[in-house]
Amino acid sequence: MKQPFIIRQKERRDCLDCASITTRTWRSTYTGIVSDEFLNHLAENEQARATHALETFDHHEKITFVSECEGKVVGLATLKECHRKNLSGIGEIQALYVLPEYQGQKMGTALWNASISYFQDCGYPKMVVGCLEKNPNRVFYQKKNGKEIGTAKFELTGEPLRENLYLYDISLSSVENILTSLQRSSFRRKFHLRAKEKQYVKQKGIDVIYHHACDFIRERLACAEPIHDGKQTPMKGHPVFLAQHATATCCRGCLEKWHHIPKHRALTEEEIQYIVRVIMRWIQKERVI
Ligand SMILES: [Zn+2]
Repeated sequence: MKQPFIIRQKERRDCLDCASITTRTWRSTYTGIVSDEFLNHLAENEQARATHALETFDHHEKITFVSECEGKVVGLATLKECHRKNLSGIGEIQALYVLPEYQGQKMGTALWNASISYFQDCGYPKMVVGCLEKNPNRVFYQKKNGKEIGTAKFELTGEPLRENLYLYDISLSSVENILTSLQRSSFRRKFHLRAKEKQYVKQKGIDVIYHHACDFIRERLACAEPIHDGKQTPMKGHPVFLAQHATATCCRGCLEKWHHIPKHRALTEEEIQYIVRVIMRWIQKERVI
């Protein structure tokens, strides 16, 4: 029976549930595929994994979405930046698990969609997923319009396994098109991230920069009549400020001229999300130059 569920970001209180979901889905999916020794080990270190997750909760290196059904966390998707060879600087879904008794209810797809949306917010143009070669659920990844780009070694407690890598294009044409148009302006073209700002992005991590961008837009641009409109965005001091000048999202005048978002009314949530996506996409492009 299909039960209603919600997708939300993982909170501290979910750490133990998430550790348990990992144990249970591995057991149900991989019995006979990976060694019993490893599966037993997962059960034994469940508490330790939950403690580690709690201790590193604020590190922003990974983002997890959970699915919640009747007040219980029953699925998860863990996202991080990919550091695989030749695939760096894109998003990676590191894990996507749904408890066996909740599978077949489109919960995996809902977690998948939330993951894509998050990566798009952060300006990642592509996303990769590694799926164990013998994973009986691999058809899920094959059906999502990905490109199989090869295999990678995957080692579990000395057990050599292989995983298939699937690459997905998640770029948004609306964002790419406006960035191309902006390149025609000699004023906008002048702005770049310098070594200092690139270092700042690296040190803070993309998730933190994304939250800064959301805060700046809400505080300085979102209301109908922002204070000092036209002068509210400094020319330096934060990578997001530079990105705003480069992308003409610095003031309501520029937003109106370039992005056709009218002045003298509050920005909608969709407009804020669009603006942040443009800013983050520009930062992602700059930081790899
Ligand atoms: Zn402006």
